[in-house]
Amino acid sequence: MTKSYVTIIDRVCIVCGTQYSTNELALDKHLRAKYEQHTLGGWGACDTHQKLADDEYVALVESEPPMYGNKTVPPEDAVRLGRIVHIKKNIFEEMFDTKLSTDRFPVCFVEAELVDHIEKLQGAMA
Ligand SMILES: [Zn+2]
Repeated sequence: MTKSYVTIIDRVCIVCGTQYSTNELALDKHLRAKYEQHTLGGWGACDTHQKLADDEYVALVESEPPMYGNKTVPPEDAVRLGRIVHIKKNIFEEMFDTKLSTDRFPVCFVEAELVDHIEKLQGAMA
């Protein structure tokens, strides 16, 4: 593939880890042909998970190690174990006695036991 001065930004969904293309373009200021067709632009959220976030759901991603609000471990160091559960933001804030900041995507990397617990609760409610 020949290089170009314009590139399409790809992002990785912070919830499910899927890489997807965005409509964002990046342009080299000096029009140097330095880009591949796609460039990885960091974290985002895929359509599905953006929609859930818009509907005020918090994504709890089963991972190793779990991180909660601990920002000393970056998301790229979390190993996704497969399960993702969504709970309403107000329920989350009650359960964890915390306020989610609105400038961050509503996602938490949590341990397997917590996912078990929430699946059980959701099963009981259904
Ligand atoms: Zn996703």
